[in-house]
Amino acid sequence: MSMIIKLLGLQELEIEITGLEKALTDARGKLGESPALQKAKADAAAAETSYRQLSDRQKELEWQSEDIDTKLKNVNEKLYSGRVSNPKELTSLQLEAGLLSEKAAGLDEKALDVMEKMEAADQEFSQAAAGLTQAESAWHVEQQGLKQEIDNMQQKIAILEEKRAKSADEISPEALQLYQRVKMQKGVAVARVAHGTCEGCRISLSTAQLQRARSGSLERCANCGRILYGE
Ligand SMILES: [Zn+2]
Repeated sequence: MSMIIKLLGLQELEIEITGLEKALTDARGKLGESPALQKAKADAAAAETSYRQLSDRQKELEWQSEDIDTKLKNVNEKLYSGRVSNPKELTSLQLEAGLLSEKAAGLDEKALDVMEKMEAADQEFSQAAAGLTQAESAWHVEQQGLKQEIDNMQQKIAILEEKRAKSADEISPEALQLYQRVKMQKGVAVARVAHGTCEGCRISLSTAQLQRARSGSLERCANCGRILYGE
């Protein structure tokens, strides 16, 4: 096998390894909580918070209502006990009873409103919780797939690295050095020749260059410096 074919083989292995390494990095970046799972968690937490706030409000209204009921009971007791005979005092008690009743009615209305909101919030919470369960199971499946994918890629890379090392062993130190140097400069060291043109820079090659490239010697493109591979 000519040196240029060996270099091309090495380059192909390296390109494959680089591609796999990039895919591996991408896959690793997807490990951990996905945006979909994060959103589902936030939605469930928000729904729970608004339900709890309404529940707190409901308790507060209940306490206020109990307080008013007690006050009203006391006023009514006084009013109908027969112990109060002063007309002014009676009128004042009646007025107070009226005000307390109004307050109680107002609180009842508020409590009803809160109860309705709680029903809606409860429904929202159930939906969010179901959404979270779904997102979590989808996420688990996705993560397992990713881990499998990562394992596979790591194995492939290890095999390719071994091949790469073997392939490099078969290349002369001078050729390998040239290859590494051009690769450092150009990213890709070996350029194929197609229709008399270097595929690395798309510049036409001279007949003499073409002949040398086709003969299998390590000919470099006069324009870009890549090592030419002419079939
Ligand atoms: Zn070129």
